Amino acid sequence: MFQPLSNQQLIDVADEFGTPVYVYHAEQITERYNKLTDAFKGHPTRFFYACKALTNINIVKHIKKLGGLLDCVSINEVKIGLLAGYDPQDILFTPNCVDFDEIKDGVELGVRINIDSIPILERFGNHYGGSYPVCIRINPHIVAGGNYKISTGHIDSKFGISIHQLRHIERIVKTTGLHVQGLHMHTGSEIKDIDVFLQGLDVMFGVATHFKGLEFIDLGSGFKVPYKDDDQETDVYALGASVTEAVATFKQETGMDPEIWFEPGKYLVCECGFLVVKVNLIKHTTATVFAGVNSGFNHLIRPMLYESYHRITNISNPNGADRIYTVVGNICETDTFAWDRVLKEVKEGDYLAFHNAGAYGFEMSSNFNSRLKPAEVMVEDGVARLIRKRNEFEDLLSNQIY
Ligand SMILES: *Cc1c(COP(=O)(O)O)cnc(C)c1O
Repeated sequence: MFQPLSNQQLIDVADEFGTPVYVYHAEQITERYNKLTDAFKGHPTRFFYACKALTNINIVKHIKKLGGLLDCVSINEVKIGLLAGYDPQDILFTPNCVDFDEIKDGVELGVRINIDSIPILERFGNHYGGSYPVCIRINPHIVAGGNYKISTGHIDSKFGISIHQLRHIERIVKTTGLHVQGLHMHTGSEIKDIDVFLQGLDVMFGVATHFKGLEFIDLGSGFKVPYKDDDQETDVYALGASVTEAVATFKQETGMDPEIWFEPGKYLVCECGFLVVKVNLIKHTTATVFAGVNSGFNHLIRPMLYESYHRITNISNPNGADRIYTVVGNICETDTFAWDRVLKEVKEGDYLAFHNAGAYGFEMSSNFNSRLKPAEVMVEDGVARLIRKRNEFEDLLSNQIY
């Protein structure tokens, strides 16, 4: 039975490896992966881990061990996947607005290519004809997800080829002899409402009938995970049942029986991760009580970039009295993690844990203010292992010429 990491385990990691530190729990990724595959066992379904959420090669390898495949958005992610031991055909490369040379590099490495614009589709067709199968990213124009900033399927989005350009896609495919193996959509992040996926699937079915021999429909991702206590996650079992039923009906009507693919990022690695920081200072002002920690948006930018809510717990004093704090970082820039947050009474030197820090946490970190990026630790079978060293001062100068 799966046991989440305890406060004591997080404290032990912080004591051993220092703070700030990202801590990932391998078993929690396993639990999530197994839940997803179980929910979709009614129809052949493949899961490509969208590794931009967390690219540490140890995490990528762990997901490979579980049987997961890989979704990459840059050629360097592709190279990390190959280094982790993935078969090239188990990697889907979904770049956006890249130079055509980067796509050619993907072909050379033998990975699956997902094409996201008319000009690239045309160039690809002219260059490779039908010799290298492709997937096409469609923008179904469905507004989905938590907010507009993280939605990618709307009319203003730069992603995908508009569903209204289907005629144009068909012309290019016919003229160049392109082999369209799959269709793809990815409408955004934090989609709780499964109808968004089902509407998208319906749009994809409509397009699929234009491409005989189509092998798969990729519904992207955007599975929501709970951040706040009363948040609901995407009901993957309900989605699995509905998708299975929809594909069966589609098969009856058309004779086509595409595999279904997904590209979960956040769903697999969000909740497994914590950012553990130390409180440097408790500062009373006329307005509030600040808890100043040894981190900032250089380490976890989501609260500032997306106004996202991350649960924060005082793991050093879990039974203390409830007090109200404004949690800020040590960066010379407004870097408020949380206003008016109820925490168990905080003293200087306490460790605070940011929850849901596995996805888009370390991955979006920077060296702003010439501060060092945190270490990363993976806990597996009760053993904590350093999987990325903390930056050192020399790293800040490493590519400077002087
Ligand atoms: C970011 C991304 C994902 C993963 O999204 P999550 O919300 O993290 O699950 C999947 N597919 C593509 C193409 C992406 O860009």
